[in-house]
Amino acid sequence: MDVDKFGWTPKCPARFTNGLVDIRQIDEQTFALWGGDVPTLHPIANHLDEGYVHALTLNSTFNSPEYNVFKDGKPQAITKVASDRRRLEATRFEAASRALSQTFFRGKVWRQEEVSMILNVQVTVDDIPLEPPEIIASRRHLLGLDRGVGINVCPKGAYVDLHYGMVSHSAAFILLIVGTLDEGLRGLSRTFGPCTKVWILFPGCVPENRALFHQLNGTRNILARAGDMIGGIVAKVDSSFDIELPAGALHAVFTLTGGFLAGINYTSIECLPMMGAWLEGCLESFQVNPKNTCADLDKYLKALVATMANQMPEHIPGATSSWLRLLPILQSIMDRQLSTPKLYSLLRGLEKEIKQGRKDLHWATSCGCGSYASDFGGHFLKNHLVHIES
Ligand SMILES: [Zn+2]
Repeated sequence: MDVDKFGWTPKCPARFTNGLVDIRQIDEQTFALWGGDVPTLHPIANHLDEGYVHALTLNSTFNSPEYNVFKDGKPQAITKVASDRRRLEATRFEAASRALSQTFFRGKVWRQEEVSMILNVQVTVDDIPLEPPEIIASRRHLLGLDRGVGINVCPKGAYVDLHYGMVSHSAAFILLIVGTLDEGLRGLSRTFGPCTKVWILFPGCVPENRALFHQLNGTRNILARAGDMIGGIVAKVDSSFDIELPAGALHAVFTLTGGFLAGINYTSIECLPMMGAWLEGCLESFQVNPKNTCADLDKYLKALVATMANQMPEHIPGATSSWLRLLPILQSIMDRQLSTPKLYSLLRGLEKEIKQGRKDLHWATSCGCGSYASDFGGHFLKNHLVHIES
């Protein structure tokens, strides 16, 4: 990869201390660092025409403001202030148009400060039929798609800094934008036509990687200072393969040949401990970004209740242990009166949902706290809720 040619030198570390392994030749040690759940490539059977994806993107951009525009790596914000709104909409539309035209000048290398891109134009799975690969769907207990399909438009030279698939990941990066980069957990991405990207990935299940990310979060050029992360994988992917990412995988993406990328995100019961591990760090600095942390927590709690309702005893100890690690942090937020109305309503919602007598939540199983519960829902209500002053 010609880092200099694209102006990526400030975006990359001088060296990756622990090296990067090619996704097509993952060794045993790297496989183990990812907990056996590594990013994978899947050949595509039905290719969609790039022109179709282009038309779809234009149509959705005109019809919905729910997309994000970046110029020189900075979000072009939306505001609710009426007087500024028209000006900002114009700025965003201009940047979106620039991203599209830059994308089709494929021979030109854009200066990094010129590069514009559009992220997360929302379409449906009827428009672009993406689904989790069979091998994932058959081995994991999927809880469904997080949203529809998101389309990104990136010209040659575009760069998305290191992030992971939950909402609160990059405080400074994301605060100003609508929606998220890729808010689900496991993820599948596909490019169209000549579009080619290089992905650099690190396992989020390695505590040292998470700690380093939390330390760098909110600053620019995170990848450039993440050269010490371990378990790194590099993947050059064109439009003949989908790339599937496991839950919580940290990734930075470089666009070698501009074009369109479509992606979906999905949660599985198996994702819950990973979601919890990332949430732990975000909750510890809850005041920094309560809104996005609550959005992550909302997803986590939905997955937790779904796991409980699924009545698969083998997943309960892992799920409850993960919740029991979050519990004291949440309690401390309450006790120090740092909570927000949203956090209150999420925690009350959890209690209400279990209390409402949903039969599927009340069954006999071993809990992650070590005790056996003849009525798991009842046991959870009695022992494992955050105490909220009313
Ligand atoms: Zn328990």
